[in-house]
Amino acid sequence: MRNALSIDLEDWFCVYNLRGVVEKQDWSKQELRIGRSTRLILKLLSEHHTKATFFVLGWIAERVPELIGEIEGHGHEIATHGYFHTLLTEMTPQSFEEDLKRALEVTRVCTHQEILGFRAPSFSITDKTSWAFEILERNGIRYDSSVFPIAFHPDYGMPTAPLSIHKVGELLIEFPLSCVEILGRRIPCSGGGYFRMYPYLLTKSLLKRCNREGRSAIFYFHPWEVDSKQPRVKLSWLKRWRHYYNLDKTLNRLDRLLSDFEFTSVKEVLGL
Ligand SMILES: [Zn+2]
Repeated sequence: MRNALSIDLEDWFCVYNLRGVVEKQDWSKQELRIGRSTRLILKLLSEHHTKATFFVLGWIAERVPELIGEIEGHGHEIATHGYFHTLLTEMTPQSFEEDLKRALEVTRVCTHQEILGFRAPSFSITDKTSWAFEILERNGIRYDSSVFPIAFHPDYGMPTAPLSIHKVGELLIEFPLSCVEILGRRIPCSGGGYFRMYPYLLTKSLLKRCNREGRSAIFYFHPWEVDSKQPRVKLSWLKRWRHYYNLDKTLNRLDRLLSDFEFTSVKEVLGL
């Protein structure tokens, strides 16, 4: 079974976990490390003959347009992650649409592809922000992958959303972040911090279970998660653990993951 591989293309300082430590107006003063870490990912994907979807942050596309061209040159899908990494739960429908339009505008000039996909910063399409689906659809987006169908996370989650790919508009498709249900509990198996915190074999067995249930999984990670030498900022222990734990192991684990499962871009899995 083919699974979808996705990379949220943002640098180490764009992360919601670092809010209040590195402010948006100071982003341009930070050391850009995304080129190096993205090239490590591109190399790994080439070695495994694997295509992926890159959800590009508009601010990054504007800053390093040549990197987006390079990703496209490797045959990967370019999608959008919004412009400024503001959570939908902190925006109005109007400011979200402005952010989306700006992201599409600056990303379209870097790619020859039609941009079909969207992922919200920190999976922030929740029951309170489901107004976003209509806005995505009228801006030409064909699929969304922002819904995390879980109940336990303080920042995101749509606890009653289906676990499988489903329609959320006339044409708009939702590819929810992959979870499996065990004894009535939904356990994420879709990457990011979960991938760094679980032992590799746990991720592997959960993904296998997802595939056995007849569902293609969607897996995500970020370039900063393969960059163990990124600048360290002062964070609470919980945030420090979330952001820095096992960064030095991610690339090797991804190598194993790409050997153990078949992955491709989201649009390929959805047949778009
Ligand atoms: Zn993000």
